[in-house]
Amino acid sequence: MRLTFLGVRGSTPAPGAEFVRYGGHTSCVAVSTDSASEPQLILDAGTGLRMLTPLLAPNAFTGSILISHLHWDHVQGIPFFAAGDRPDARADVFVPADGGLNGRDLVARFMSPPSFPITPEGLKGDWSFTAVETEAFTAEGFGVLPFEVSHKGGRTYGYRVSDASGSIAYVPDHAPAAGVDAAAREAMHGVDVLVHDAQFLDHERPRAVDYGHATIDEALALADEVHARSLVLFHHGPARTDIALDEISAEFGRDGFAVTAHEGMTIDVGGRR
Ligand SMILES: [Zn+2]
Ligand SMILES: [Zn+2]
Repeated sequence: MRLTFLGVRGSTPAPGAEFVRYGGHTSCVAVSTDSASEPQLILDAGTGLRMLTPLLAPNAFTGSILISHLHWDHVQGIPFFAAGDRPDARADVFVPADGGLNGRDLVARFMSPPSFPITPEGLKGDWSFTAVETEAFTAEGFGVLPFEVSHKGGRTYGYRVSDASGSIAYVPDHAPAAGVDAAAREAMHGVDVLVHDAQFLDHERPRAVDYGHATIDEALALADEVHARSLVLFHHGPARTDIALDEISAEFGRDGFAVTAHEGMTIDVGGRR
């Protein structure tokens, strides 16, 4: 299994000269079977999803997109995903079930006039939208286990994704301080790579609590508790400059156990980068 990081920011994109090395796109991670295959399983559809089109070129996207939750920084890439918005594309989108709405209607709440020019039906190609509960399923040959995590404002999932080569857990928005239940611990347990919310530093803890996010110390502690084999610090604050992220990388790296995500980074699970 290979992970390709296409967007590593949280909250809102971060353009500008101080952000070019780590990148300004919001959350999106592409999963492929190995380094030779095209990504077919996508974790979140933040603005980083746009970066998938050149990776697939000239091909259309055919695959599945797992959405952690419906906050803007995790879905705004959907209507700008050129490789998915064409007649020969297929995209099966999975979102957390919430409020009894079906998947299409949950997506249409943020993607329809007057908030956006088109509805989900306006996307070209074969798109489906499914609201999922926290039950295991298979997508594009990968085992997928959604699990509920504490965040703020709408139901939020982490996803464990596994294949024969190993397992990862993707938990971009998570407030461990609000409690980590047994199902979430079990889902994260022993993964090769834990991709986790690391938006705040310890001195910013009041804001982390207020926004429903993790501090880097909390992400490290959780990775230890669930015996993750490595940690990716992810969902960087939009004001965190390249220099600040270099400092974070040096301070929290723990001899390679924790890596600070940047756009374009790849991780071969089982073999590492
Ligand atoms: Zn977010
Ligand atoms: Zn969020």
